[in-house]
Amino acid sequence: RAKSEGRNLYRFFEPGMDAMVQARRALEIDLETALPRQEFDLDFQPIMNIASGEIVGAEALMRWHSPTRGTVAPDNFIPVAEETGMIVPLGEWALRKACTAAASWPAGLRIAVNVSAVQLKSGSFARNVISALAFSGVPAGRLELEITETVLMDESEAVLRTLRQLRGLGIRIALDDFGTGYSSLGYLRRFPVDKIKIDRSFIHDLGNRDTAAIVRTVIGLGAELGITVTAEGVETEAQLDILRGNGCTEAQGYLIGVPSNAADIQRLLKSRALHSQTG
Ligand code: C2E
Ligand code: MG
Ligand code: MG
Ligand code: MG
Repeated sequence: RAKSEGRNLYRFFEPGMDAMVQARRALEIDLETALPRQEFDLDFQPIMNIASGEIVGAEALMRWHSPTRGTVAPDNFIPVAEETGMIVPLGEWALRKACTAAASWPAGLRIAVNVSAVQLKSGSFARNVISALAFSGVPAGRLELEITETVLMDESEAVLRTLRQLRGLGIRIALDDFGTGYSSLGYLRRFPVDKIKIDRSFIHDLGNRDTAAIVRTVIGLGAELGITVTAEGVETEAQLDILRGNGCTEAQGYLIGVPSNAADIQRLLKSRALHSQTG
């Protein structure tokens, strides 16, 4: 729509339209044209196995470099893309791009991709995932899909069936931002996941006795369930020490590595892999 009307964008902004509604509509219009204009990119953030110190993979994080808005953070455009449905083609693009990048990483390193509930409900999701793997040549066992609790909040059996199908192929499912939703424990019972990612707000507050008790309990829960526990947002050695002392499996955060572009992460992963081979 925005494209076909070209310069007549003022037509969307009728007099009396609330300023916030106008700003929101302008964002939607920019977002719609951003994909064909190739304004999106992925950064990658390394994930470390705490016990061995080895990098085991990286998470793809979407970036929007808008010529007029500058770099827009995902928290500011993903919710809009979800509401307009743009997240479906955008998510498909991210899956392909992430898998293509991972294809040139040392064998065995995992690629984690965030997936929104809207994508999972779209019906074409499983097909898109399978096609991204085939296109890139990355084996299913190296792909991890990060879903938030809102995905499992959905009552639809179709979403659970899709997740089961993908898991059956060897793709791993991670529960992102664990602890921030309404009923994190309920979802664990409803759908078996391979990994829990403890939300960074808990790690930030690890110095607090009660928060530390909760984090210890989640780590213990992961051990009981036989699943990986990843701590998000690890920024200090002190935090990493606490996590290590309590047997947390993996850490991700600025201390381990900031999100960086495809070329930089590839260099980091290759040098780390070489390092661990030579001892
Ligand atoms: P997330 O999946 O929980 O990703 C982790 C976020 O924490 C990222 O923010 C990352 O840059 C940030 N982070 C990593 N380490 C640290 C740290 O040590 N300290 C602090 N303060 N922050 C840290 P980012 O890149 O802004 O992404 C925000 C959220 O946007 C993501 O949260 C994810 O939910 C969503 N997102 C990002 N990329 C995609 C995507 O391709 N698809 C979908 N559906 N969502 C995405
Ligand atoms: Mg994530
Ligand atoms: Mg998270
Ligand atoms: Mg998040």
